[in-house]
Amino acid sequence: MIKKVLLLGAVVSSFLYNSQTFIQSYQDRANLITQSNINTNLTEFASFGVKKTGSVANSNALNWLKSKYLSFGYSASDIVEDPWTGGGYTSKNLVVTKTGTLYPNKYVIVCGHFDTIAGPGVNDNGSGVSIILEIARILKDIPTDYSIRFINFSGEEQGLYGSQHYVDNVVNSTNPKMDIKVVFNIDEVGGIAGLLNDTVFCDRDQSWPSGNNAASAQITQELANCTALYSPLMTEFDPAYASDYVPFQENGEIITGFYEHNISNYPHTPNDTYANMDPVYVLNVGKAALGAVQHFAVAKISPDLGVVDAGQNLNDEISLYPNPAQDFVNIGIKGKDFQTIISDFSGKTVLKFENEQSLDVSKLPNGNYLLTVSRNGKSVTRKLMIKK
Ligand SMILES: [Zn+2]
Repeated sequence: MIKKVLLLGAVVSSFLYNSQTFIQSYQDRANLITQSNINTNLTEFASFGVKKTGSVANSNALNWLKSKYLSFGYSASDIVEDPWTGGGYTSKNLVVTKTGTLYPNKYVIVCGHFDTIAGPGVNDNGSGVSIILEIARILKDIPTDYSIRFINFSGEEQGLYGSQHYVDNVVNSTNPKMDIKVVFNIDEVGGIAGLLNDTVFCDRDQSWPSGNNAASAQITQELANCTALYSPLMTEFDPAYASDYVPFQENGEIITGFYEHNISNYPHTPNDTYANMDPVYVLNVGKAALGAVQHFAVAKISPDLGVVDAGQNLNDEISLYPNPAQDFVNIGIKGKDFQTIISDFSGKTVLKFENEQSLDVSKLPNGNYLLTVSRNGKSVTRKLMIKK
């Protein structure tokens, strides 16, 4: 008996590496990111012009960011300006803290630079800035086990000066040093106008020092899992380099990040504009990012919406197989009076079944879907993948 349990434990933990439970309330919050807020953030960001480190436009953008966080309900004491000089530049990072309920002294850092060079930088990195603002807005009143620190860095384009300063003067300034669970960097996720932007790179630490590489691989796999669960995007892995996670990586921290898969030629030119990127892609990356931040920081599951609380017994009964499926998928539930709905990630119902155990999915195109089984007013949602 003991042997059996141990064996089961081993199987389950290796399974967990590539699989996470879909949490409906995480999805519901990811869906609160609106295209109009993303568009507004991008166009307001563009309006400040070239936000070169140390310039007036750069500090105007910082003040704009500050006013955004205040408008979301963060108090002045949650928002800290972090001034620095480096490489002949003087600028400020903007640091916003949301305190965790269970581990207030352990941080999930969500970061991206707001300085630009040679252009308005709407993709590099207005895209990341826009997403971070939406995450901060939506999570403002959602309890999280871990503290979240939203950091808008400056000085990235000249050589990661703002993030290097932060690691040297904030992370390492206390004894023991600041306890960081993960650094999640979002930089240049705007895609290319007119192309199909359906994939995002998940950045993994593959460089020296290597002691933190395995942990980065694990958390980056979790980032990819969250992308599949909470957004319509596909993922690929690439090595993390040349952005604000690097000083953290060199400090031994666990890092991960997002970077566009269709790599635009416009960044660092005057043509890095709203018109040349894909705001819908930014929205989709935002959904993935918000799913991941909730997972990393362990956001509260709403009792009325969460998978576990909404239908614990039903949850135990559901076992999708095979998954990925080709023509049929079995849902494992017994008895009668249950209904199954399969929807795509936009929420549109594509198939509906009554009391059927073996579902004909042969007409569904390849991709990720959500399968919801309902009985007696309770429902359970699982991710279903169709792969032919
Ligand atoms: Zn950038």
